[in-house]
Amino acid sequence: MKRALIRTAYRIGKLAGLFALARRITRRRLRILCYHGFTLDDEAAFRPSLFISGETFARRMRTIARKGYPVISLDEASRLLEQDAIDRAPVVITIDDGFHSTHAVARPVLEKHGFPATLYLTSYYFQQGRPIFQLAIAYICWKSPLTEADLSGLGLDEGDALGRVLLDGEMRGELAKQLFVAACATFDSPGRIAFARRLAERLQVDYEAIIASRKLSLVSPEELRELADSGMAIELHTHRHLLPEELDAGLREIADNRAVIEPVTSKPAQHFCYPSGIWSAARFPALRMSGVKTATTCEPGLARHGADMLALPRVLDDSRVSQIEFEAELSGVSDLYRDLVGASKRKAASLSVYGNWVAETALPVLAA
Ligand SMILES: [Zn+2]
Repeated sequence: MKRALIRTAYRIGKLAGLFALARRITRRRLRILCYHGFTLDDEAAFRPSLFISGETFARRMRTIARKGYPVISLDEASRLLEQDAIDRAPVVITIDDGFHSTHAVARPVLEKHGFPATLYLTSYYFQQGRPIFQLAIAYICWKSPLTEADLSGLGLDEGDALGRVLLDGEMRGELAKQLFVAACATFDSPGRIAFARRLAERLQVDYEAIIASRKLSLVSPEELRELADSGMAIELHTHRHLLPEELDAGLREIADNRAVIEPVTSKPAQHFCYPSGIWSAARFPALRMSGVKTATTCEPGLARHGADMLALPRVLDDSRVSQIEFEAELSGVSDLYRDLVGASKRKAASLSVYGNWVAETALPVLAA
């Protein structure tokens, strides 16, 4: 209800010319857009906070082009931010994780407009070349046509106690979490693949179709090279999709990630995105020692000169964000609103629009 009111307020504000005014007022702020996966099939219905349809993405890009927002590279934007030279309300496009759909769906749209973009690649599943295990388990539980099932005898150390389960609404998500934790505790990597197959069979979901569609898989090495060749910057997102606070572990995550990316791009990866948006100043030393110039979070907002370059806010866009909300973010109206409600309520104000992104979409902490 509250969200419906906000949308109505935005529509009235737009008609009254407030969006154009906000754009002028916030022209010295940088809009860093954040995307994850794009839909090949039913992913947006499965995880709306993680996937956006190609049509919606194309509409967003058309909006940016039609309204004349300059789209610049993250590298240029970081330089301008440091020099206090941001002007004309520029936009940076970032895409997290590296889903196959980045190549299949987003790439042609970006190329059509000639928009530069940055892909933050997490490399463990890129090397594995198979569906992200946690998402596969969640998808199987979500997709099952059954309303109840017998999950005994799947080989889990602890999960065999599950027995008969109801597949009903939110219980599917809870079940997926339980199964993921139990499977990680029981199996090594090949064992998990076999488990996912057994589970899919038990829940009457076509696992081979999930693999073949690549809807839950990352780009292939060939696709990554094509993205890099087309001008997309490939940057850091850790190897196992987590950045521990402990220095050596953090350094290792970045080094492992870099060792996969740089042979493809033949240039230093210098920009970073916190996996699952989990960040803290305790993680800065590992980033600085790794030569990272900027790091983006999932904190909602526009970036300004003087902001900590290792904690840059972004504008999160996904299937749940309506066009008017997107335009409100693009214009700066939403950021001015966040200014108005003050830092203490800043997050709450944004959550009312976006929901709790981290809780809903956080990709797994990948047990390698
Ligand atoms: Zn991620």
